[in-house]
Amino acid sequence: MAPATIPKTQRRVVLANRPAGEPSGQDFRVEDGPVPEPGPGQILVRAIYLSLDPYMRGRMRDVVSYAPVVQIGEVMPGGIVGEVMKSNHPNYAVGDIVEERLGWQEYGVSSGTARKIDPTLAPISTANGILGMPGLTAYFGLLEAGQPKPGDTVVVSAASGAVGQVVGQIAKLAGCRAVGIAGGPKKCAFVKDELGFDACVDYKAGGDLTAALKAACPDSIDVYFDNVGGPVTDAVFANLNFWARVAICGSISQYNTAETEFGPRTPGFFVGRRVTTRGFIVSDFLTRFPFAMARLGGWVRSGKLKYREDIVDGGISKAPEAFIGLLKGDNFGKRQVRVGPEPAGLPKF
Ligand code: NDP
Repeated sequence: MAPATIPKTQRRVVLANRPAGEPSGQDFRVEDGPVPEPGPGQILVRAIYLSLDPYMRGRMRDVVSYAPVVQIGEVMPGGIVGEVMKSNHPNYAVGDIVEERLGWQEYGVSSGTARKIDPTLAPISTANGILGMPGLTAYFGLLEAGQPKPGDTVVVSAASGAVGQVVGQIAKLAGCRAVGIAGGPKKCAFVKDELGFDACVDYKAGGDLTAALKAACPDSIDVYFDNVGGPVTDAVFANLNFWARVAICGSISQYNTAETEFGPRTPGFFVGRRVTTRGFIVSDFLTRFPFAMARLGGWVRSGKLKYREDIVDGGISKAPEAFIGLLKGDNFGKRQVRVGPEPAGLPKF
């Protein structure tokens, strides 16, 4: 086979301004840059799918959290699935498909930390989704922080999204009743009819959300997997059972607000109801990723876990618009950007 042509320059997306609230297109800049040359022990990777994730909003703030702040002019961070184009590392060959954190750019170098993907097992884009960070987040967040028991009622917010769709399905596999919360009738129909949740509450339908959740969860809520925070979470809290567990995964409803607009909530009834809350970051479970990935992979291949992806075409320059939309809920499933074509000859599923 003729060696693939590698251009000298590439396009990438950098942070141009720090948004105070909702990001706009002007907070990002699409620019040209050199394609890097891999050094000793490194590989050059061409991005095929860029994963867009809510955590990226946090990196745009000048506030140190569990991960470094993106500096103005720096390439936006992010995971990609891509193809090895050059290899100076014995573990990787040209043509390998890998998953690595190379950011919002068409080409990047990795120093031997990329995860190799077997393209015969599932579509390679799943390595950014159900068989990647979001799937692992659902797995460990539910099973470790949520501690579900058979017969429990498990509620998950952002239920049609990358993490939420997996949470409810694993809850079902664990013998629980799964109830989703999602925005709009289409997302709710998908969650119930295609993913097999027992019920889904549309938080955008208007009316009393606390009452709607009570109707959907007549035996109260034993486990809440919180992806959103804010008013949705307040309504769930009002329906928690005694000894409930709350797995705090994220608070997307707060990500575009100024820091001063939110503060700690103090639900006094957590005392009487003996509620346990646990925040977690998926990397807390790093050493157990291979085991969890094998289980997730088995469930996907046997059809026990279904998934929906939302892939935006048009290349890397579409990433800002697709990311801004993700924060507003215009994604339907795991959002990614198709940065470049898949190599010819990959299996079809
Ligand atoms: P999703 O694919 O679920 O997309 C985000 C969804 O959030 C939107 O589709 C929308 O769904 C919902 N949403 C947006 N704004 C609001 C709002 N104001 N109120 C309620 N819901 C809203 O994203 P992910 O699955 O990738 O991420 C889900 C959560 O998990 C995020 O909070 C993220 O930060 C967190 N996370 C945490 C990790 C960890 O290690 N702790 C790792 C990975 C993710 P809808 O239309 O239904 O409202």
